[in-house]
Amino acid sequence: MADCIFCKIGRKEIPSKIVYEDRQVVAFEDIKPQAPIHTLVISKGHFATLNDVGAEEEGLLGHMMLVAARVAKDKGLDKEGYRVVANCLEAAGQSVFHIHLHLLGGRRFAWPPG
Ligand code: AMP
Repeated sequence: MADCIFCKIGRKEIPSKIVYEDRQVVAFEDIKPQAPIHTLVISKGHFATLNDVGAEEEGLLGHMMLVAARVAKDKGLDKEGYRVVANCLEAAGQSVFHIHLHLLGGRRFAWPPG
């Protein structure tokens, strides 16, 4: 998508602090971190929300989760714990309409979430 900010990050058309990249995904630091560690994992392909991802993308979604866990381990969060979140649509707080996982760590998190 030409005007999608996360597509632009994936294509390196706008700068970001990339911590991991492969054929399917990019992981980079959130510009407005909500925790000491706040990294986003995006797909390179454009899907506006989780509602737009078909069953054929099961592998992609699984890969995104595994990349989040890998980055968590790289950042030393695997022992103390971390949270992985996907917001879908406005009621959940989605503000960028390109699927992404939030990897959050480095502090304690409340449950249920706000
Ligand atoms: P969400 O609200 O779940 O859609 O999450 C979108 C996230 O993207 C927010 O945490 C924003 O701070 C983050 N974000 C927006 N623009 C950028 C950017 N250019 N670089 C890094 N993170 C961004």
